[in-house]
Amino acid sequence: GVCPMDGNLQNDLSEVVANDKAHVWHHLIQHKMFETADPNIIVEGKGMRVWNQAGKEHLDAVSGGVWTVNVGYGRESIADAVRDQLVKMNFFAGAAGSIPAANFAKRLIEKMPGMSRVYFSNSGSEANEKGFKMIRQIAHKKYGGKKNKILYRERDYHGTTIATLAAGGQHERSAQYGPFPEGFISVPHCLEYREAAQDNLGQGESYGLRAANAIEDIILREGPDTVGGLILEPITAGGGVIVPPEGYWPRVQEICRKYNILLMIDEVVCGLGRTGTWFGYQHYDIQPDIVTMAKGVASGYAAISLTVTTEEVFEQFKDASDHMGYFRDISTFGGCTAGPAAALENMRIIEDENLLENCTARGAQLIANLEALAKKHSIIGDVRGKGLFCGAELVTNRETREPAPEAKVQAVVKDCMAQGVIIGATNRSLPGFNNTLCLSPALICTAEDIDLITDAIDQALSRVFG
Ligand code: PMP
Repeated sequence: GVCPMDGNLQNDLSEVVANDKAHVWHHLIQHKMFETADPNIIVEGKGMRVWNQAGKEHLDAVSGGVWTVNVGYGRESIADAVRDQLVKMNFFAGAAGSIPAANFAKRLIEKMPGMSRVYFSNSGSEANEKGFKMIRQIAHKKYGGKKNKILYRERDYHGTTIATLAAGGQHERSAQYGPFPEGFISVPHCLEYREAAQDNLGQGESYGLRAANAIEDIILREGPDTVGGLILEPITAGGGVIVPPEGYWPRVQEICRKYNILLMIDEVVCGLGRTGTWFGYQHYDIQPDIVTMAKGVASGYAAISLTVTTEEVFEQFKDASDHMGYFRDISTFGGCTAGPAAALENMRIIEDENLLENCTARGAQLIANLEALAKKHSIIGDVRGKGLFCGAELVTNRETREPAPEAKVQAVVKDCMAQGVIIGATNRSLPGFNNTLCLSPALICTAEDIDLITDAIDQALSRVFG
């Protein structure tokens, strides 16, 4: 690609870098490192590619770092739609509605059979908090406050606020932020690659059923009349790109129905096409009660998240005889129209450019390329994924499945970066589980892009593991 930046801009940017180093508190990073290195400032993006302050081009294989920019960078039609909406009506919060919110809600619900109502807010964490509040309010209204526990799964992630951390299965993220609110109870995960191999727990469907039944065991231990909801990622993202085994999801649904527990699915990563269907749960023939989404909803062109419910859930917040009989919640910027305006255009692009189909085809290519790499590099123990949501787990021994050391996994990420390809690795809050390379290119990626990404990984693995 051609660097879109002109030479002059680079001079200006030394001041930007200085201002950043002096005043910006970056997410997720130990700032000590900026005493000897500059922060990476992403200045421009177009399609699959971004340029940093040095004018260096990178092929982005992680959609903005965290599975977000599904339709790629530099989409003028989204910027235009947002601009047109903002100059007409930018914001009115509270009980008022807006034209783009109404239109987007209708279009979204068309993609989600069985779902009915859309609640607008701004981040994935916030959307999940809303879902928790709905479950809790239903517990108070219908069950005298008793059925209030919310089950979450080890290794899943649902956000960064105190309650979503309480519902988080990545404990290093929460270790320093307690005390936490009560009533969030963990259930085991279902990482077949690690667990099924160890204890003769069965493979495929029988492992899937066993993993789901482990949730039932916890419900029985806690008492079914105390459990109101279960939150799960359809495919676990940062916790290891974990695609559930056959049989898992239908059994989870059955257990929720049996004990009258609301099934809340966190589609913050999978939502809006990441896995080749509109939503991750739609691979599994299940009907959730609450679905949350954020990242891909507007591909990062605006901050928007949604908590979507069935009409049955919504109906329970319509009791006019009780002054507490409605959802006593607000999100100030849920009233900003930039989000739904961007989301409408984002959805149009996904449809008109057939990006779900492209996602499925390019995802299959990515998996095939990674499997070919696994033939050459024994360090690759497992290749997993659906659509353009893939992972390659690195192990030093294929028999024992001993995880590759974190420093080496990070060295692979760094080597790819030096080659101009941005990849990710499972997050570092899970000691012993941070050994999976994460790949989630935008849904617009081409066959050539996929080959460039896996070629870079091939070279990096050769250099790092010899
Ligand atoms: N759920 C999942 C599955 C996520 O991956 C994330 C963010 N990485 C969140 C929730 C939280 O979203 P946000 O950072 O927008 O609050």
